Amino acid sequence: MHELALAENIIKTIKDKIKSCNVKKIRKINLIVGELSCVSEESLTLYWDIMSKDTICEFSVLNFKKVPAIMKCNSCCQTFSMSKAKDFRCPLCNGDASIENQAKDFYIESIEIEP
Ligand SMILES: [Zn+2]
Repeated sequence: MHELALAENIIKTIKDKIKSCNVKKIRKINLIVGELSCVSEESLTLYWDIMSKDTICEFSVLNFKKVPAIMKCNSCCQTFSMSKAKDFRCPLCNGDASIENQAKDFYIESIEIEP
C-alpha cells in the first residue's frame, strides 16, 4: 500500500505547486526513482490511474527516470555501480563502500502542463 500513499502525495504536491497558476490539466509528471527507493513503477501507475480520477491529474502520465545506485569506496575512493559491489565492499581493494548518490530518493523532477 506504499504506492497508494505515494500517489496521494504526488497529487497533493502538484495541487500545491500549481495553486497560484491557471492550470487546467497536467499532461505528464517526471519522477526520479532511485534504484534503492523501493518504489514499484507498476503498482504506482496502477494507483495513479485510480487516485488521479476527477482531479487535475486525470489522464496524466507518470514518466519514471531511474537512477542507478553508485557506490564509493571509503579506502581507495573508487566509484562503481552497486551490482559490482559485494556486500557493500569495493571490488578493487575490498574496502568498505557507501552509497554515493541519491539512489534512495524518490521525487518529482518536473511537471508538464497542458498548454
Ligand atoms: Zn577500494
